Amino acid sequence: MGYQDSERAQEVAERTRAFVDEEVLPRERALFGQRDHRSDADRQEEGRELVEELREIARERDVFGPQIPEEYGGLGLDFVDLLPVFEQAGRSIFAMGAMHVAAPDEGNMEILEHAGTEAQKAEYLRPLANCDISSGFSMTEPMDGCGSDAKQIRTSAEKDGDEWVIDGHKWWTTHGQTGEPDFLIVVARTNEEVHPYVGTSAFIVPADADGVEFVRDIPHMGESGMGHSEVKYHGVRVPEENLLGPEDGGLAVAQQRLGKARLTHCMRFMGMADRSLDVAKAYMDERSAYGDTLSEKQSLRFDIADAHMRLHAARTMVRHAARQIAETGSADTEVSMSKVFAAETVQDIVDTCVQVCGGNGIGKDLPLADFYENVRCFRIIDGADEAHMRSIAKRAFDDDELEPEEIEYVTRFDGGE
Ligand SMILES: Cc1cc2nc3c(=O)[nH]c(=O)nc-3n(C[C@H](O)[C@H](O)[C@H](O)COP(=O)(O)OP(=O)(O)OC[C@H]3O[C@@H](n4cnc5c(N)ncnc54)[C@H](O)[C@@H]3O)c2cc1C
Repeated sequence: MGYQDSERAQEVAERTRAFVDEEVLPRERALFGQRDHRSDADRQEEGRELVEELREIARERDVFGPQIPEEYGGLGLDFVDLLPVFEQAGRSIFAMGAMHVAAPDEGNMEILEHAGTEAQKAEYLRPLANCDISSGFSMTEPMDGCGSDAKQIRTSAEKDGDEWVIDGHKWWTTHGQTGEPDFLIVVARTNEEVHPYVGTSAFIVPADADGVEFVRDIPHMGESGMGHSEVKYHGVRVPEENLLGPEDGGLAVAQQRLGKARLTHCMRFMGMADRSLDVAKAYMDERSAYGDTLSEKQSLRFDIADAHMRLHAARTMVRHAARQIAETGSADTEVSMSKVFAAETVQDIVDTCVQVCGGNGIGKDLPLADFYENVRCFRIIDGADEAHMRSIAKRAFDDDELEPEEIEYVTRFDGGE
């Protein structure tokens, strides 16, 4: 299928496919294809060791950090060129870790590159890009705080001399505890007087700062190798130079991260759908019932045809949104539409693939059962379906609650120093 991807994009995507097929998948199945006496903690530790081992191979095979600027040791691909590469990486969670294209580090590097000062880039972006440190992104809050509605941020940051003092309670901070992040990007309210979309700021908070309390890893469905944590900030003091982006411009900074990150998430999850289809088709070719193979049953062939058709539509939508961002700087409606459509499509495809593999779809010899558990979060993370549908509908009705100059401020932040 041609998608008008550039030669460079196709070349790196092919290299990535070879890396995943030849290096990652054989090791991944050796680790996860057999359930034995190992505990979840042991398995996670082995998973981390595998990522470390694969990272070296990713560097040798020139697929490490496709999105990271060359000056920080990556391949420096344009955002649009990244799409097919991210899809290939998404065929295995270990490939994503090894190539350093997984959330939350990927999105945090994007923020630091775009909004960080030169000092912040030297202290945080360079070592993060090199995998010497890791990071988390701390925005979502428990019940009376912000979830779908970003305006509800309760965590506060107050200026005290040349320091900011942060108080608040977050949860679902990926990498929060298990990954032992070295720093967190925390979004907090800094101004009660202005529109709630405008009065928040982003801060870099070292994870070992006094007052940072990692409460727990939240037990959850699906195994990504990363914990999602509840974190409290008790009067955490950071120097004023840890403000990331403009004061009261936190949502603009978050939006900068989330707009593109939603599309890269789509591509990674489409890699999961693509691999699921490969696995299912191989099973269908081999397995026979009632006189011929499953791949000869017309109703199952239609299921596979439908999956390919929808995957093609999703790929096309994501590329369209990415090109729109590259040309105009934003594509909020197109990003929302792509995110909702891709999440539903990938979830349905994984479900179809589980079904056509029968009992083995549920068994963990194949990767489908893990994919099935992991894919469910895609309709929730980076804005749940309903939040995106709400935004699409608001624009369809030409109905916006922000003043034009506030919209300008929230969506058009053009970078740090
Ligand atoms: C695996 C995982 C990783 C995550 N990682 C991070 C992270 O690193 N950092 C971080 O800050 N957060 C993270 N999150 C949190 C994620 O961003 C939120 O779960 C998401 O934004 C939805 O917010 P919520 O869970 O509070 O849902 P809620 O806001 O409580 O919404 C619950 C349901 O109500 C629906 N709803 C809300 N408003 C409306 C409406 N107006 N009309 C109709 N339906 C509506 C929602 O769509 C949703 O289905 C993560 C979540 C998961 C599951």
